[in-house]
Amino acid sequence: MITVIGSINMDIVVETNLFPKQGETVLGESFHTVPGGKGANQAVAAARLGAHVHMVGALGNDAFGQVLRNLLKVESVKDQFVETTSTATGIANIILFEQDNRIIVVPGANHDVTKESIDAAREQIAKSELVIMQLEIPQETVEYALDMCQELGVKVLLNPAPAENFKEEWMDRVAYFTPNETECADIFKDDVENALERYPNRLIVTLGADGARYYDGEKHVIVKGFKTVPKDTTGAGDTFNGAFAYALTTGVGITEAVKFANIAASLSVEKFGAQGGMPKVEAVQARLK
Ligand code: ADP
Repeated sequence: MITVIGSINMDIVVETNLFPKQGETVLGESFHTVPGGKGANQAVAAARLGAHVHMVGALGNDAFGQVLRNLLKVESVKDQFVETTSTATGIANIILFEQDNRIIVVPGANHDVTKESIDAAREQIAKSELVIMQLEIPQETVEYALDMCQELGVKVLLNPAPAENFKEEWMDRVAYFTPNETECADIFKDDVENALERYPNRLIVTLGADGARYYDGEKHVIVKGFKTVPKDTTGAGDTFNGAFAYALTTGVGITEAVKFANIAASLSVEKFGAQGGMPKVEAVQARLK
């Protein structure tokens, strides 16, 4: 059983061929809403593969909150520890303009995930094989949850995104740490090999289409990505993390878990939307053969 402590957002996507100047109104091409937030994405990725997943998070008392809660239920993600608060549900306002993405994130209710939220889920956390976190909820909540997991002896997979919210002193409380290359460089201010050698079997750096790598204490291990033609790489990292966590709870080692996660993520980039392409376990197994 996995507990994900993290963000839940509605992505509000507007496509436009014209970008409004100050004070101007333009007509856009299309509009759609897409469920997101790294916490919810990683919870859905693990649950779709068959993991028993509990989510700890917060939604507003509004229409997006209701829709997002229902979507978690549809994916069999347990929402008992997803609070409804008086703050608006978190959103990401994404403007697709020519080749440019302009994104405004309003965390809203995600900032209401507090120490009290973690205390409320304590028993659930204690029963978990693994806790997954990212950094889209308040830093003090992440820190509090890390301390609780350490006290309870529960392993944590920390995906440090956005990287600026990470504190290196947390590394000793983390069993698995999964930045992408940019996040790794931002956090460790060092080249990737040196960083990996400091954290054997703990730091796993994802490399986009090239897969992922880690250091096993003796040698550098590169687990190649599964070659595919990507349609939309949004949420590749989230699928990787949910799948890596699921694989670890089946008892496999890091190399096997990374291989499984690479394949799950390769399937997800073949479809649009972060959650849209997240695979079921059978699809991953078919590619593992
Ligand atoms: P993020 O999405 O967090 O920036 P990456 O770009 O490193 O992270 O991608 C995460 C994982 O998704 C990679 O380790 C890989 O398994 C998979 N992946 C990403 N892009 C591709 C691609 N073009 N083809 C196949 N797999 C991909």
